[in-house]
Amino acid sequence: MTKVGILGGGQLGRMLLESAAKFKAETYVLENQENCPAYPFCDHFTLGDIRDYDTVYSFGKGLDCITIEIEQVCVEALEKLEEEGITVIPKPSVLKMISNKISQKEFYQQHSIPTPDFFITYSREELVKLIDFFPAVHKVGLGGYDGKGVELLYDINDIHKGFDAPAVLEKMTEIKHEIAVQVAVDQAKNIAVFPPVEMVFDPRLNLLDFQICPARLSPSLQKEAIEIATNLVNAFQSPGLFAVELFVDQSAKIWVNETAPRVHNSGHHSIEAIATSQFEMLWQILLKEPLGPTHVKKSSIMVNIIGAPNYSGIAKLEGADSITDQDTFIHWYGKETTKPGRKMGHVTRLNIKPENANETAHFLKNSIRCLSDTKENKDSLV
Ligand code: ADP
Repeated sequence: MTKVGILGGGQLGRMLLESAAKFKAETYVLENQENCPAYPFCDHFTLGDIRDYDTVYSFGKGLDCITIEIEQVCVEALEKLEEEGITVIPKPSVLKMISNKISQKEFYQQHSIPTPDFFITYSREELVKLIDFFPAVHKVGLGGYDGKGVELLYDINDIHKGFDAPAVLEKMTEIKHEIAVQVAVDQAKNIAVFPPVEMVFDPRLNLLDFQICPARLSPSLQKEAIEIATNLVNAFQSPGLFAVELFVDQSAKIWVNETAPRVHNSGHHSIEAIATSQFEMLWQILLKEPLGPTHVKKSSIMVNIIGAPNYSGIAKLEGADSITDQDTFIHWYGKETTKPGRKMGHVTRLNIKPENANETAHFLKNSIRCLSDTKENKDSLV
């Protein structure tokens, strides 16, 4: 059995482990909370901080292979483990470059990957001099996730929202579609590309509202998006599963927004809708098995189950019993507590009609909700 370690025990780790049963792997998870989503599904659990050098190093030392489910890990420890012959996927050098939005953007520029123009800023004060570049999007270099660490700056009145830390100031794109293309690269450099998916964002939470596959794009735009994503991932020169997020602007030009070097929210539909799920694909990469096919088996919509506004505390899934059709799959991440905006699960519906996508997504979101025992009176979003 190959000993495989996963840094992080969130929902991505949980779903990766759920799909491990088909593979010959002994699984190890490092996370600083025992009641994390991945805990019930791993063979071995280590309690510890994924950002701490000694903890990550001693966790990885006896393993054959190690991967991540979140970028914020101690890369230096992974570099040391790689030096000592442990297979680290993705390569620590790529993880380091991607985990800082500044070096990630510089990489795109150096490799002629189309990405919105940008400046690098080190303090909020500098934004005043860059006002002619507005409207722009300010993105903190380190530590942002799920839209936290991203601010839209339209004019001088928005400067106070900017980050007083190293950040990227990126030209605001007039987005028509946001899409994602997952690209798998195995250890022998073979490539498999998942069909592009379309992501529709909730502007209030700045979180994925729903995802639809296949993306509602012309075949030529789909082809171009696949080409750009593949070129980019080739430039990484690393095995791994990469989710490339792209924008299609109003004049049908495609830009790379960012890349996640791991399994990703935009690929959850693949469990039921694609010939190989993103989780199976990562196992195939880790265990040196042939990469599976990636064709669409059935059209799909995926919505996240997000902690409802005003509900915090012990999580309660509501409405799941009302869904009786064979085409709807509810995934609950087993998190004990909810808070507004927290990702608690997701729902995939198959055999959807693209023209009814918004209706279907809103039906699912309104039918299946994550509440808690007690309702707060304040109208807050966290
Ligand atoms: P995160 O890493 O937190 O997901 P992103 O860089 O993906 O942050 O940005 C979050 C969202 O902000 C994007 O999905 C998009 O809707 C919006 N956004 C990001 N960059 C731009 C841009 N250059 N122009 C317009 N909107 C943007």
